[in-house]
Amino acid sequence: MTKPIFIYLVLFFCLACAKKQTDTTEEPTQKEYSSTGGPTFGIVIHGGAGTILKKNMTDSLEAAYKEVLTKAIKTGHEILANGGSSLDAVRKTINVMEDSPLFNSGKGAVFTHEGKNELDASIMDGATLNAGAIAGVTTVKNPIDLAYEVMVNSEHVMLSGKGAEDFATRQGLEIVDPSYFYTKKRYRSLQRILEQEKTELDPDGGTAFVDPYIKDQKFGTVGCVALDKNGNLAAGTSTGGMTNKRWNRIGDSPIIGSGTYANNATCGVSSTGWGEYFIRGQVAHDISAQMEYAGKTLAQATHNVIQEKLTKMGGTGGVVSMDHDGNVSMEFNTEGMYRAHMDAQGKLTLGIYKENE
Ligand code: ASP
Repeated sequence: MTKPIFIYLVLFFCLACAKKQTDTTEEPTQKEYSSTGGPTFGIVIHGGAGTILKKNMTDSLEAAYKEVLTKAIKTGHEILANGGSSLDAVRKTINVMEDSPLFNSGKGAVFTHEGKNELDASIMDGATLNAGAIAGVTTVKNPIDLAYEVMVNSEHVMLSGKGAEDFATRQGLEIVDPSYFYTKKRYRSLQRILEQEKTELDPDGGTAFVDPYIKDQKFGTVGCVALDKNGNLAAGTSTGGMTNKRWNRIGDSPIIGSGTYANNATCGVSSTGWGEYFIRGQVAHDISAQMEYAGKTLAQATHNVIQEKLTKMGGTGGVVSMDHDGNVSMEFNTEGMYRAHMDAQGKLTLGIYKENE
């Protein structure tokens, strides 16, 4: 073979290889497409976990929960279907639940020991690993929007208390009087727990610690994970924390890696439950890490973290999560968890109790 022919052959071979490589990165795998032919997307939400039993639920209350869950998930789904971002879907979906008195977030938040409402929230962008969080705010109508503002319009990840509220005003967010958050139901829960504290004296005559989660095991925090048509995952969580909390206690919901986590390489997670355990277990990040480092599927990782590790520690609660292919896991170790999932085709799966109903 003459030299020029040999060079041509080598060049042709190299070009063919380069073309093949471009093809494989551009051609999506079957998994990346929904059955309708468009890129896949999806959304999953929770409205808290806990001792949620069918026998304690009235038909009308159950219907009310289902109505708000459906309204919330449809809001996010529509954004995603129209090509909107997962971050936008997460925020707007959570706004619907924050505005409902049924959930322990925004309107409907639980009361502190002193009879106040202190709100926590966080959001994370799986594409950039940017995150924003706020804790202990008392006047911001939609805490998830403030977490978002922290993420995109400040150089910080987490703001708290008065400073966070000043930042909210500066960003033009809706500020309300703290009395906006009052609901009779949550105030009664606080009164019940305070009564128990008074009557349950320890043998030495002091006041026994009354664990609010043992006496009133319902976690009404709300959360959302979404995957948009560009393959970007986002997750967010918003809460009033736990009834009877004091000393400016902050739970897992505004802690990135505990209450919220999102990474396009793995999954998005939003948690609800006994926050102290979720912080110590780094629950949301652990799920992502098990996928990243141990090659586990989302289902395997969530099962291990919730049913094995968290349960062994004594923690209770659950997560909703979605991976970069749109697979979903709604794992919890309590009697129930308000939850819903909607896939790219608009198929809705809604559940409250352990058995899916
Ligand atoms: N995880 C929240 C907290 O500990 C409570 C909840 O999920 O309802 O603050």
